[in-house]
Amino acid sequence: MKIHHGDVALITGASRGLGRHIALALAGRGMNVVLAARNSGGLEDVAASVRAATGVSVSTVVVDLSDRGQAASLVQRTLDLTGRIDVLVNNAGIEAACRPEEADLDELGDMTDVNLLAPMLLTRTALPGMLDRGRGHIVNMSSMSGLVASAYQESYSATKFGLVGYTRALRMTAQDRGWNVSASVICPGFMAGDGMYATMQKEFGVVAPKPAGDMPADAVGVAVVEAVEKDLPDVLVMRGAPRMIAVASMAAPRLFERMTSRADLAAPFRTVAEHRSTQRNGDG
Ligand code: NAP
Repeated sequence: MKIHHGDVALITGASRGLGRHIALALAGRGMNVVLAARNSGGLEDVAASVRAATGVSVSTVVVDLSDRGQAASLVQRTLDLTGRIDVLVNNAGIEAACRPEEADLDELGDMTDVNLLAPMLLTRTALPGMLDRGRGHIVNMSSMSGLVASAYQESYSATKFGLVGYTRALRMTAQDRGWNVSASVICPGFMAGDGMYATMQKEFGVVAPKPAGDMPADAVGVAVVEAVEKDLPDVLVMRGAPRMIAVASMAAPRLFERMTSRADLAAPFRTVAEHRSTQRNGDG
């Protein structure tokens, strides 16, 4: 979809992290942006930086996407502010690397609701307006963990694999029905400088495996703009050969497991899981 000056993007998870880079990138193309998340202070900080950098119109909406009622009404609340949504970016997400036998029931529910159910609900509620106007694009933020499994990431991977499948199916429906509305899924590796892995690095001292770990966070903003403008199906944001890795994990799963084990790719999430286990169970 060609982005026009004054088009409107709704971006979830826009109070910090990658959401800020996505907002800056879309606003940099002249889009007015609506930023959604729970933390109003974070939203206002991001809004101020986007306004200062680009001069577009920026609105904020406080929403808790783990609450299904709030997720279901976010599109209407946005339409009340802007009258239309041309691009929906389902970026909000939570991770919970942990030992799977210690996964917390509430955390499992929240992760499923925020990472997978909310994007489906928002898509479902944004689509009718996009179809009426004959234009629109939905961008879902998955992860390399949505294409290739990582140890200690069972529930996160489950939601991110789900989002890849949902987006691919949605594209096929759009093509089958001849819509001028489409969808893309973004699969970043470990992004440096901002976002949840940068937070893990600060909190737990984890080191992302090379070469996956040195992509700057603003590369995700560039990827979102490209996905919309070129109607790309999957966009993998990682150095090296992420598509080869994804293909290898499917084509030769046992060999892939041996290689990841030999390279100790579990190390970063094992570190986080061990820290959280100690915090949960006490260390004495
Ligand atoms: P982040 O820094 O932790 O930011 C997460 C965003 O999601 C925040 O704005 C947060 O806002 C929002 N959020 C969390 N729970 C929410 C809820 N219940 N309701 C509404 N908003 C909620 O993470 P990030 O790295 O920017 O992640 C953005 C997306 O990229 C996620 O989907 C993540 O899985 C994906 N991703 C990130 C990386 C990476 O390297 N950073 C790699 C692969 C994929 P509030 O706390 O204010 O609600």
